[in-house]
Amino acid sequence: MAAGQKSLPWLIFLWPLLGCSCALPESWLPGEYANSTSDVLRFLSDFNSTAEEVFSFAVSASWNFETNLTDYNSKVQVRRLQSEDIDETMAKSRSYNLLLFTWEAWHNTAGVPLKKLYSRFVELSNKASRADGFADTGAWWRSWDDDSETFEQDMDNLYKTIQPLYLHLHAFVRRKLYNQYGSKYINLKGPIPAHLLGNMWAQTWNNIYDLMIPFPGKVNVDVTDEMVRQGYNATHMFRVAEEFFTSLGLMEMPKEFWEGSMIVKPNDRDVVCHASAWDFYNRKDFRIKQCTKVTMDEFFTVHHEMGHIQYYLQYKNQPVGFRDGANPGFHEAIGDLMALSVSTPKHLHKINLMKSAESDEETNLNFLLNMALQKIAFLPFGYLVDLWRWGVFSEKTPPERYNADWWYLRTKYQGICPPIRRTEEQFDPGAKFHIPNNTPYIRYFVSFILQFQLHEKLCEAANHTGPLHTCDIYRSKEAGTILKKILEPGSSRPWPELLQETIGTNKIDASSLMKYFDPVIRWLEKQNVNETLGWPDFMWLPPTPEDYPENIKTTEATKESVAAPCLAFSWTNCGLEGGGGGGGVCLEQTPPGGSGLLGGGGSPVWGLVCPPGSTGPAGACAFYPLCRRLNARDDHFAFSVLVQFTASRGSRGFTL
Ligand SMILES: [Zn+2]
Repeated sequence: MAAGQKSLPWLIFLWPLLGCSCALPESWLPGEYANSTSDVLRFLSDFNSTAEEVFSFAVSASWNFETNLTDYNSKVQVRRLQSEDIDETMAKSRSYNLLLFTWEAWHNTAGVPLKKLYSRFVELSNKASRADGFADTGAWWRSWDDDSETFEQDMDNLYKTIQPLYLHLHAFVRRKLYNQYGSKYINLKGPIPAHLLGNMWAQTWNNIYDLMIPFPGKVNVDVTDEMVRQGYNATHMFRVAEEFFTSLGLMEMPKEFWEGSMIVKPNDRDVVCHASAWDFYNRKDFRIKQCTKVTMDEFFTVHHEMGHIQYYLQYKNQPVGFRDGANPGFHEAIGDLMALSVSTPKHLHKINLMKSAESDEETNLNFLLNMALQKIAFLPFGYLVDLWRWGVFSEKTPPERYNADWWYLRTKYQGICPPIRRTEEQFDPGAKFHIPNNTPYIRYFVSFILQFQLHEKLCEAANHTGPLHTCDIYRSKEAGTILKKILEPGSSRPWPELLQETIGTNKIDASSLMKYFDPVIRWLEKQNVNETLGWPDFMWLPPTPEDYPENIKTTEATKESVAAPCLAFSWTNCGLEGGGGGGGVCLEQTPPGGSGLLGGGGSPVWGLVCPPGSTGPAGACAFYPLCRRLNARDDHFAFSVLVQFTASRGSRGFTL
């Protein structure tokens, strides 16, 4: 899951109010503002220009850090997740024991050390959120998605709509895994052991598509081999993706993008490979960081990240406070939306990656099942990660139930179980990037539903006829025009209003998704007539193999790759209280008087950044508090209140 760089500028750090008179550049200090309309406008303009500079420095510092993990940086920061080989094992191995060994090693080494720190982090984070007037950090996060009271209920309703489809996919996959691993390890009335689904978190299942292919004799819907055969490289993948956007009448990637981006893993240094898209807030500099490999999957990731960049470009002239997605789900949806067209056999044929655009029923079902393994399999996971965190922040889930509640939700929603007994000694949520990175997750759930809604509307504009899953909006300027209308306002308007205007509804709903998958739903129903839907044996766990783990025949290379997670996320050097950071950037120095330094992609934001000319957050940079809150949502709110107020009633009531 390619997390964008979206959350970065908002994740600076909580700063104790002590010592705020220290050396901020003169131009960053708040001015004096009178109670007048002209001063409101002057404040807005000052705020905007200061925020632009501050964010630009902060983003540059993180970029420098993530694209050059020197030994020094690595010591200071967490060792980054060097998880690529592990991903590969999880995706490709079909050995029950090796998968189990890899799964367990990762979860123990990445998760366990975080356990104690996480509960302290939750306390501090809640303290900060409460100081900002929210019930807890979960409430603060939810306010970004939707100001309505019904957000949690809406999400639950959405989930219920797609649940029947999920149950069918689950039952089908469980049967195929039963055929592969046998009755000892797969219970046809129970949850599926979490390590067998091709992904460390069982969040997408397309890596085991080879075990699931409905009609194996048909055209291969994965074009990786063809890309390799044609000599695709990273630059070409990026150029092809760019051409898709421009074919809709959207913007080219600017010169600075091609100069500044890091699209292959450098040979001469260590970097953070997790793909991400960056806005440097100076209206010129936008970059992608991706250690691109030539695979179809990564080809879609390129579109995903470029979707973020396209969004940045479209809203770059908004005030800083509005340079954001209409809600976080919108930002995640845009690139995926492109990939829905790009992945169709029709499109792959047009760009010469597939020999025929054969579209008989069987090929369609192959294609749709593969899509379902990516998109439908993800939904319960996309939903439950924040269900768990909302519970943690509201203290419904106390530290002594962290792991138990995590597994309860994973079994309840995903229908998976741990492959080996877990206790409160472990901390399995901590083994998922977004938990220690502190990035809210419900956005991905929203995105996975919204992208189909947008897709249907754009397909209509592109005059598509036929089933929704065969639509390709390539070269449709009409589709591009609608998209532009969605992107340009950034977060300056409430998303329901924007959605109403552009696609004629003010609700996120799953009907387009259901329509898209309709043929495969009907097919799965037929396959499953004799299956149990769901997992009535809720508490079932598979037996541990008798000779585990001694019997694992690992090559040296595998041993190494399994040992790699030992390096992951050792937070000991960056204790949250002393001098810790978050969001993947951990700073060495303890700020003067600084207890309660908080970081992470969602903490309430108090400005604390490196000054101009510093070499990066892990370099020789002191901490400079920006003694004013830079919180997008609050300023969004403050802006609109102020502007409305001054427009309607003069300057009375203006407070800063
Ligand atoms: Zn993203």
